[in-house]
This record gives sequence, structure tokens and C-alpha cells, in this order.
Amino acid sequence: MKYQSYSLHNFRNIKQIERLTEEQKFAIEVVGTILPFKASNYVIDELIDWDNFEDDPFFILNFPQREMISYESYDKVARLLRRGASKFEIQDTVANIRMELNPNPAGQQQNVPIFEGERLKGIQHKYRETMLFFPSQGQTCHAYCTFCFRWPQFALNDFKFAMKEADTMVRYLKANPEVTDVLFTGGDPAVMKTKFFEYYFNALLDANIPQLKNIRIGTKSLAYWPYRYTDDDDADDLIRLFEKVKSRGVNIALMAHFNHPGELRTKAVKDAIIRLTSAGVQIRSQSPVLRNINDSSTIWAQNWKEQVKLGVIPYYMFIARNTGARDYFAVPLERAWRIYRRAYNGVSGICRTVKGPSMSCKPGKIQIVGVSEVYGEKVFVLNFLQGKNPAWVGRPFFAKYDPGALWMSDLEPAFGEKEFFYKAEYYQMFA
Ligand SMILES: *Cc1c(COP(=O)(O)O)cnc(C)c1O
Ligand code: SF4
Repeated sequence: MKYQSYSLHNFRNIKQIERLTEEQKFAIEVVGTILPFKASNYVIDELIDWDNFEDDPFFILNFPQREMISYESYDKVARLLRRGASKFEIQDTVANIRMELNPNPAGQQQNVPIFEGERLKGIQHKYRETMLFFPSQGQTCHAYCTFCFRWPQFALNDFKFAMKEADTMVRYLKANPEVTDVLFTGGDPAVMKTKFFEYYFNALLDANIPQLKNIRIGTKSLAYWPYRYTDDDDADDLIRLFEKVKSRGVNIALMAHFNHPGELRTKAVKDAIIRLTSAGVQIRSQSPVLRNINDSSTIWAQNWKEQVKLGVIPYYMFIARNTGARDYFAVPLERAWRIYRRAYNGVSGICRTVKGPSMSCKPGKIQIVGVSEVYGEKVFVLNFLQGKNPAWVGRPFFAKYDPGALWMSDLEPAFGEKEFFYKAEYYQMFA
């Protein structure tokens, strides 16, 4: 299959879009002017069930929905489009609306290291062992998920983290021997041509960095463009490159973003998984829990069981961040935990490699261990899975129970304590 993608300017050419009413198409235009979108021909032809598109998870994930933005914002943009306002006027209004959607949550800018007197734009280093690398050729995606905190990278160029020099990455690794993992991220690095992967991976291998154990690739490609690993012109070269990395004693892991068991159904994704695992690539899965998409324990249990059967290791369940179309997808923390727990209870131990539900906040990845009662006070039990300070990890702590809480920022310490245990140290880090 040849890759084709559709977005705001050409989505009306998709033949299945004829099924939508004019009003539905206009809603895509209005919301799509604020939240950029993109859908591949694979998603359109093989994932979306067009007989039932209004409730189809892949239609909802790939095409903007009326309810993803406030009535007020919708109305503003709809009026501008209806009266044929100038591009300039639309951009102005849209820029303001986007700023209200919290485009850069969880202080990512603060994880950009200063190295050799310079801010490294293409690197983030938050957790001791793992360095994030943002290759400049991999800063777009196969889809622009509207719950994703990466969306400013597509919509707002000023926020773009990117770096061309593999050289800087290598020097950074040599200077930071505690880093065992390099996680290629984006955007979606799998949109890169194989020649760029070769460039970066060879630089890592040739540098002989003794502590380098894992090269990871964070990607949505298995779900939205599995042909990347089978049919694309440079798919064979990519598989050979992965084999080479393995043969040099470095593990290669695809951190695959799967939202729904429907993504595991096609022959194309199964072929891609077989090809990757046969080449020695480890595939691990992660996804946020999303209202209107996967907010059910049955879906998660089915997801993990199917993944394990295919050779994919369940890894993280996340809470969606407070950005973009957050209200549309939000699941309260307590509910997310109940979904997790019920799903976890419904699968065998082999699927229980999954961790969550977890919030990626400024201080770290915080897991909701559960709701409990201690001396008559109902509490959330929380735990750091990753911490900006590694000493915070694995030390349960407590927040006041709040059934409506959606994020860490909604929680307060339990038992009348003033601050969570890590707060003083955390403030110092940013002082
Ligand atoms: C999740 C995450 C990682 C990877 O964490 P693991 O638990 O090792 O998978 C690294 N850096 C950042 C900023 C992250 O959010
Ligand atoms: S980074 Fe992943 S979750 Fe975010 S828009 Fe791209 S594909 Fe979607």
C-alpha cells in the first residue's frame, strides 16, 4: 500500500467522507482549524468502520470532533469561516484559542539540559537512565492525536524541539555515563526515512558507548502505518539496521502506542509485529486511558491479552495530560484506577507487566496505586514510578480522596499535611 495522508485541506476528497452530513464536515473544518489533524489511508481504509463512524474509536481519534473544543471557541471560528474571514484574522483567533489549551504541559522545557554552555534543543533528560532524543526528521506524526501534548510541535513552530547533530547526542552520552537508554521520540521518529535511522544509530554504535543498553523508539506507526516495517521502499533496510543494532549487543525496543484492540486486528499489523520480533526487536505497548475510546476494563484486558499473544509486552497505562482536547477524553483518576484494576484482574500474570495508571507530571511519573481508607480517612495511595529525583521512586504516599480529580494538580496531601513529601526538594530543583 502506498502512503497517503489527508488533513484539513483535502479531507473532502476521502470517498468515505461523503457519508457525513454537510454539518458534520463543517464541524471537522472548524475544529480542524484549531487542532490540526491528519489521517493515513490505512486508518481510513482498514481501521475505521464507516458504517458506524460516529462511534468508531479511530474516526474519533483521527478526525476532529465538535465536542473537543468549547462552544465559545467553536462559535468564534465557525463565524469566521462562514463569513469568509481573511487567513490573518483566522490565525489570530486560532492562536489565542490554542494558548488556552495549555500547549506545553508538565514543564517539558525544564528538562532541556544545558551542556557545554548551550541549551540542547533536541535532548531532554529528566530521569537518570533515559535520555530523550528528538531527531529533526521525526517531528511529525502519522496522526495528530488531539489529547497529545506533542500537538504544539505541529501547530506552533516556536515550540519545536529539534536537533540535527548526532554528534551532540554522542558527546552528551559520553559525559553522562548514567544514561543507559536513548529514547528516540518526536513527533514520531518512525516517519523518518531509514537513512536517517542509519545515520543516528551508526553514530551511537560507532562511538562505542559502553553503558548504552537500550535504543528505544516511541511510535504510533504500528497502529497507524504498519507498512513502515513491511512494504515501504526502505522497510527491509530498516529491519536490517535493527538486526545490526541487536548484533552489536544493544537492545532495540519499539515503544508502541496502541489505544484500542481494533488496532491489532489487521493482517498488516500482525505481519509487521512478526517481522519486527523475528528481527529481535522488543515491542512494548503504552496508551492513555481515554473517554470515548477505551474507558472500559474489558477493552484493556482484551488489549493486553491480544498484545501478549502477538508478542507485544504491555508496559504503561497513562492518564491523558491536561492539554488539547483534554476535557473530551478525560477520565477521573479513581475511574482510571478501577478500569486498570478490573482489567489487571481479568488477565493472567503474563500480561501483568503493565504499570499504571500513571501521570507524567513535572516531578515524575506518579502511579495511582488505589483508593484506600486509613484511620477513617479515605485516601488515594500514590507512588512514583519514575522521579526527577530517583530517591522518590517506590515510596507510597497519600492524597485526600477526591472522586472528581483528573490530575495531580487536583490533589492535596492527606492527613492534614501541608505538602507532599517531595515538594520542598522539588521547589529547590527549580529555584
Ligand atoms: C516516560 C518517560 C521516560 C521513560 O521512562 P521509563 O519508565 O524508563 O519508560 C523518559 N523520559 C521522560 C521525560 C518520560 O516521560
Ligand atoms: S506523538 Fe503519538 S500520541 Fe502524539 S500526536 Fe503523534 S502519534 Fe499521536
